[in-house]
Amino acid sequence: MSDKPRTFPLTLDSLAGKPSRQGAAPAKAWVATPQTATQNAAQSAARNLRAPYGAAPVAAPQRQNPLVSDAVRRAMVARVAKQGVRDQVVLDALQAVPRHLFMDEALASQAYIDASLPIGHQQTISQPYIVGRMIEVMRNGGSLNKVLEIGTGCGYQARVLSLVAKEVYSIERIKPLHELAKSNLRALRVSNLRLQYGDGMLGLPQAAPFDGIILAAAGLEVPQALLDQLTIGGRLVAPVGATLQRLQLITRVGKMEWTSETLEDCHFVPLRPGVI
Ligand code: SAH
Repeated sequence: MSDKPRTFPLTLDSLAGKPSRQGAAPAKAWVATPQTATQNAAQSAARNLRAPYGAAPVAAPQRQNPLVSDAVRRAMVARVAKQGVRDQVVLDALQAVPRHLFMDEALASQAYIDASLPIGHQQTISQPYIVGRMIEVMRNGGSLNKVLEIGTGCGYQARVLSLVAKEVYSIERIKPLHELAKSNLRALRVSNLRLQYGDGMLGLPQAAPFDGIILAAAGLEVPQALLDQLTIGGRLVAPVGATLQRLQLITRVGKMEWTSETLEDCHFVPLRPGVI
């Protein structure tokens, strides 16, 4: 891998580095949120990521925080594997991403327990098991070219996805969370990930079709727009339901034909229309 992989026309850096051109508020405007520590941590982020896609070589860690030790994360990944995630590519990606850097410092000590945790705005960072499980189901042992995530949140799953797919797009409807994800991911210089502020229920027609789509929020049904943006053979994984939610796998098998499989119970924040 070269020093500056340029496999993707619009890099995160190009999006995140020029807030004024995009009309976004300068970073300071939202620094006074519970995510301040996450941003600070992200800025001093230093890690040894080695991955097939999108990982620019970065400097070695400057501080030996036990939380960043491989061993802590390895234990988390071992638990995820024990719960049934078998795909080694997915497990390696979970091992490579420092989850604590996507969270508020006050919660960082819990970053490697298998739980969803608050990221502000009544939203959560997904549980590592479910992140791994959904990606495993979407991947199905094959290679992923273009993937779409609905619900960027703090950007954790998007980063994991960027290690298993060639190109990743992720949409978030809450502006401060979109900005938080940009900040969290900026230091990682992920060249194959594009973050989009918008309503993910509409998908991203300009980048479609996708051979994988993951929803990180639960709707009562999967929006047809997303089904239409799958390649034939493409797989969409989504939590579906209100209080009782089930993980669903939908595969596009023809131009106007999809099959659906119900997998397991799950619990996600709700999928909502529009942007805020
Ligand atoms: N992927 C995140 C999980 C974030 S929680 C992780 O890595 O942990 C789910 C996110 O979905 C929330 O941030 C919520 O705001 C977002 N969301 C809900 N409905 C949405 C929609 N229609 N479009 C885009 N994002 C949506």
